[in-house]
Amino acid sequence: PYDGPSADEILAKRKQYLSPSMFYFYQKPLNVVDGKMQYLFDENGRRYLDAFGGIATVCCGHCHPDVVDAIVNQTKRLQHSTIVYLNRAISDFAEALTSKLPGNLKVVFFTNSGTEANELALMIARLYTGCHDIISLRNAYHGNAAGTMGATAQCNWKFNVVQSGVHHALNPDPYRGVFGSDGEKYARDVQDLIEFGTSGNVAAFISEAIQGIGGIVELAPGYLPAAYSSIKKAGGLCIADEVQSGFARTGSHFWGFETQGVVPDIVTMAKGIGNGIPLGAVVTTPEISEVLTRRSYFNTFGGNPVCTAAGLAVLNVIEKEKLQENAFIVGSYLKERLAALKDKYEVVGDVRGRGLMIGVELVTDRQLKTPAKTETLHVMDQMKDLGVLIGKGGYYGNVFRITPPLCFTKEDADFLVDAMDYSLAKL
Ligand code: PMP
Repeated sequence: PYDGPSADEILAKRKQYLSPSMFYFYQKPLNVVDGKMQYLFDENGRRYLDAFGGIATVCCGHCHPDVVDAIVNQTKRLQHSTIVYLNRAISDFAEALTSKLPGNLKVVFFTNSGTEANELALMIARLYTGCHDIISLRNAYHGNAAGTMGATAQCNWKFNVVQSGVHHALNPDPYRGVFGSDGEKYARDVQDLIEFGTSGNVAAFISEAIQGIGGIVELAPGYLPAAYSSIKKAGGLCIADEVQSGFARTGSHFWGFETQGVVPDIVTMAKGIGNGIPLGAVVTTPEISEVLTRRSYFNTFGGNPVCTAAGLAVLNVIEKEKLQENAFIVGSYLKERLAALKDKYEVVGDVRGRGLMIGVELVTDRQLKTPAKTETLHVMDQMKDLGVLIGKGGYYGNVFRITPPLCFTKEDADFLVDAMDYSLAKL
């Protein structure tokens, strides 16, 4: 039983002592006390089905026993920095991680977060090419330090920091974009940006395969091959941000970029990689990785024994429990059931995504695609009261983000859709 402070007391403390920039979901924010696989529990022991944990890091399920064991055992033995000593955890995990990547993506640099991973990737690309210009997609999120905030392309995540040399390409968004699902047409904008906005050479192109914070926007088919081809011709490197779409989440593939049949020069990852433990990584080729030897470069806790032991346990669980297959089967079923809600309710404008990374966009007018922001918040609150947690995103805040732990079952999917159905009916 929980004998700690109430949600109201925690909220009051938070208001007094924590940054006013911190935000939360729900009119009455949830005090989560315990977690077990796809469930979260509040201070009263009430159980919630967590269909948003995937985004907040959890891929194998909250407190998965194998991952907890790996963390506890390594913590008891040693937790330290690996910058000046050897330790098997970091090397074992690097070996296992690269075995999951195609081509010559064989060298890892560990960080503590997705922002750090993307900052490093952008710097590597600039060092390797000697160029400064970066192209990223409108509606993208890549982090909130100076460089990654520049590459991020939604004004609500951007402060007025220096963002030199960043160009934002047309978003290949099949629902809201001007060219529908024709990926190659959108990619022409990348070529145009190179020709009209740069010297003709660029450092890098960075993108998610399925935009997460942007509202589960799966890039139009054919986009990445065409965009990568323009970037390569301009001497740039292609960076795949797999912070959300990686680690088996899409079901059909282990990495999001694989859904478009491309092989990037650099892959960045975080969140799911550690199942809740702060961990990020940049993976690239031996040749490109050489640029970091020009100076001394380190990250004190990047690749520390505890986090990398957790990472290795996560990979083993994904394999052992066939979580990719589960994401595919349960995700396809869930998407099908959610798509049926579109036939039932005018307010459901679009259902999209892949595997256990699904978006449901609410609009008050299907023709004009007017964002139904208030309705989105209302349904989320209702669903929470029914015991189901989902996320929201998109530039207009009108897209449900459904990204549960990969151990989600068909029964969970049914419960989620029934709760959404009931809440939509009551709108
Ligand atoms: N890239 C993507 C696609 C993300 O969604 C996020 C975080 N939501 C980041 C990078 C940044 O990761 P972090 O918050 O760990 O810095």
